[in-house]
Amino acid sequence: MNSNEKTIEKFDKHVAHSYGRYSLAMKKGSGRRCVDESGKEYIDFGSGIGTNSLGYCDEKWADAVCTQVRTLQHNSNYYYTEVQAEFAERLCGIAGYSSVFFGNSGAEANECAIKVARKYSFDKYGKGRHNIITLVNSFHGRTIATLSATGQDVFHNYFFPFLEGFINVEANNIGDLKSKLDDTVCAVMLEYVQGEGGVNALEKDFVDAVYELCGPRDILVIADEVQTGVGRTGKFLAGDHFGRKADITTLAKGIAGGIPMGACLMNEKCSGVLTPGTHGSTFGGNPIACAGGLAVLDRLESEGFLDEITKKAEFIKTELEKCSEVVSVSGLGLMIGIQLKNKKAAEVARAALDKGLLLLTAKDKVRLLPPLTISYDELRAGLEILIGILEE
Ligand SMILES: *Cc1c(COP(=O)(O)O)cnc(C)c1O
Repeated sequence: MNSNEKTIEKFDKHVAHSYGRYSLAMKKGSGRRCVDESGKEYIDFGSGIGTNSLGYCDEKWADAVCTQVRTLQHNSNYYYTEVQAEFAERLCGIAGYSSVFFGNSGAEANECAIKVARKYSFDKYGKGRHNIITLVNSFHGRTIATLSATGQDVFHNYFFPFLEGFINVEANNIGDLKSKLDDTVCAVMLEYVQGEGGVNALEKDFVDAVYELCGPRDILVIADEVQTGVGRTGKFLAGDHFGRKADITTLAKGIAGGIPMGACLMNEKCSGVLTPGTHGSTFGGNPIACAGGLAVLDRLESEGFLDEITKKAEFIKTELEKCSEVVSVSGLGLMIGIQLKNKKAAEVARAALDKGLLLLTAKDKVRLLPPLTISYDELRAGLEILIGILEE
């Protein structure tokens, strides 16, 4: 039995079988490569689903995190910590928001956004204006509220009753949006690029319509940037591509470089909504996560870093479009979906493992979310493997 198998056996005996896992046990990583227990190395085009934004065990990030671990690993939110203050100030400054609530995941960030939107409306208009419009094919998380928000029927099973108060509108269908924006609605929630839904960017006209219809009626816009945020698309927020700033933006995945953290950013209008006792999280704003987040922001703010992301994305797209098996390449920046002609995305991802490349899928597409720090050499090596499989 090799060590992969020993780990897998122990794991499967005691860890809930809630994921379809590959038969692979990962041992360590460095830069944009990781190694499994048999010693096989992989180039990583998935970055732990977009979380390891600086790759594996980046030196400066690891130093910042380890220093914090040895200084103050946690203290309750009954007290202040300098590192949370510093991270909140930097994050709000870069993202252009007034305040932030910290949780530990994307779902928690979205839970917070839902609560803020409903309370904002309740405080100002009273009961009955609690509905939130979300889009068909969206993904907002796995808690009961965020599952209820998620506009995909496959997620609405087993766990009844789901939460009421979510109305689905077809993405890019302005007529559908108009017909459902009545005076029971307090917010519209959207992903600028639907990630789990298949890496589909919204059309600019639709995004414009959302803002133009919501603004005058004081209906909030919530941008779920859990996957698209923190530089992933070549701008700090994907909303920047559309020239729009939501009232509430949620972040998670890559925000702290692979340490659990979620953030719900609020503009000035929403910043007074959460009052003492209305929301909380024991671990939220944990000092270690904040230290990791500061290291991520340092890198993102370094000269030319975001522009490089755009250039790398163009390079990937150009290379992929030369391949006859590729029908189209979707997404924004280093969030890439590949529509295939004949091959199945899941089979391509499996074949890539054998050849030393980690890929993701989204619906019927191959999905790439490489670390933002990936080099051209690593991109070339990974693309050679991928295109080799596609052209087999
Ligand atoms: C991943 C994801 C979530 C859920 O994040 P978790 O950290 O798994 O709770 C929510 N929204 C979007 C857009 C995501 O991509």
